Amino acid sequence: METITRKSLLYKSGLGFYCLNHVQGCFHGCRYPCYAYMMARTHGKVNYYSDWCQPKLVSNAPELLMKDLARLKVKPDYIHLCLTTDPFMIGFPEVTDMSLKLISIINTHGLRCSVLTKGRLPAELADRNRFNADNHLGISLISLNEEFRKYWEPNSASYSDRIGALRELHEKGCRSYVHMEPYATPNIVKQDLGEILKSVSFADEIFFSGWNYNDRVKQYSDYKGFYRDQADIVRRFCQERGIKCNFTQNMLSRTSSISS
Ligand code: SF4
Repeated sequence: METITRKSLLYKSGLGFYCLNHVQGCFHGCRYPCYAYMMARTHGKVNYYSDWCQPKLVSNAPELLMKDLARLKVKPDYIHLCLTTDPFMIGFPEVTDMSLKLISIINTHGLRCSVLTKGRLPAELADRNRFNADNHLGISLISLNEEFRKYWEPNSASYSDRIGALRELHEKGCRSYVHMEPYATPNIVKQDLGEILKSVSFADEIFFSGWNYNDRVKQYSDYKGFYRDQADIVRRFCQERGIKCNFTQNMLSRTSSISS
């Protein structure tokens, strides 16, 4: 795997929380399109989608993180991995190893992490000798349809793999969440949100939001009504089971900026 070096790693995102991205690019190659890819193109870090799908690991990430943590004046509530790449991307064990190392460093400094992936969360995250119990471990899940996944999230982990890994960690006492964004309108894929919710009914928290950066959503008549109805389904499902749920106020006002 190609490597690069950087000068700093930790930063406060525009979304208000601290995060780090120790890889440039992402093999998963989502076609929503991926907000991180669009930003990387805008800032001249990659030219083509094919460049984006060849990730480069930040080889000096652990040293940078330790320096950045030492400089923090106020302890953040948590540090998020990642906003512009996937910490457990399929096919790159170097990325997984580095992500685990960075989470362990953060936890050793008395801080918790939130982690989000379209890959497979490693079972090691339940190891209490290395990782804190209050890390928030999450998967992105917007469908159970594998044909849909292969087109829109081509190199990511299968949905059953993602759910299986999260369930395993949840059963070992880890805090689990599911990020359902960007959820598609029926003109993109016909699916039953209830079935998707049932597949992750064990989760502690569910986040739901619509699909941005794709005009096909607006071609669906009454897409706003559709999203209102889907949000009601999520709300009821979560209330009945004591699952915490989160929505954006205007479901189409926010960008699909939470990668992965
Ligand atoms: S959305 Fe996330 S998983 Fe998909 S390409 Fe972008 S960073 Fe990777």
